[in-house]
Amino acid sequence: MSNRKYLIAGNWKMNKTACEGAELARQIVEAVGKQTSVAVCVCPTFTSLDAVSKALDGSNIVLGAQNMHPKASGAYTGEIAADMLRQFFVGYVILGHSERRQYFGETDAFVNEKVLATLANNMRPILCVGETLEEREAGKTIELVSAQVKEGLKGVKGEQAENVVVAYEPIWAIGTGKTATPAMAQEVHAAIRVVLKEVLGAAQAEKVRILYGGSMKPDNADALLAEPDIDGGLIGGAALDAKSFVSLVESAAKQG
Ligand code: PEP
Repeated sequence: MSNRKYLIAGNWKMNKTACEGAELARQIVEAVGKQTSVAVCVCPTFTSLDAVSKALDGSNIVLGAQNMHPKASGAYTGEIAADMLRQFFVGYVILGHSERRQYFGETDAFVNEKVLATLANNMRPILCVGETLEEREAGKTIELVSAQVKEGLKGVKGEQAENVVVAYEPIWAIGTGKTATPAMAQEVHAAIRVVLKEVLGAAQAEKVRILYGGSMKPDNADALLAEPDIDGGLIGGAALDAKSFVSLVESAAKQG
């Protein structure tokens, strides 16, 4: 068993108003806000950060964001900078989610700039990587995911490893109800760990948490989280309901 603390992170995507988000956060806090065996994070929309931050205040649940611009300020209409997130005590930032790569044209190089800026501002990047169904069927998964990790973490230093989170999210499994089997996910997570060793050094690579994302739900979480290189989950749909999200936190706590 590794020393890595499981991380269960909820990606709320473009869902929940500030009021709805605060209510969901309150329900999660009530159920698992005091537990310490699993790191828990919720990532609402930017407009909900203030309300959700207040709802999490005094609990062990950390606020996350879904994106960040690498520049500190300037003429970047519609974007958000690191210190704007930090004002609300954001601890994690999801970067390079496949929806941002697909719909907003984000490249590995741009995602890498964001990763470096997030670390420089004392927040933890959750670097998302993953293949399409076509790429999987063409046998390119490991090659593609390895390249995304390498490019995404360019310039990250070994000593920053414990603040780095990678999320393996096969695109064909996101929001589709299809999940990678535990063995399929573990194979890719182990390959990511090999890349992390090259990039950050063998000892430091052991500190990086690699999350699985893609239709993780209460009924498949136990088996996925039991794999040696699956250190938690990045959760979309099941994070929008307190009961199912809490159940995932409890699944991770059971593994400990
Ligand atoms: C995600 O988009 O990060 C995700 C994992 O979504 P879902 O759990 O809904 O597949």
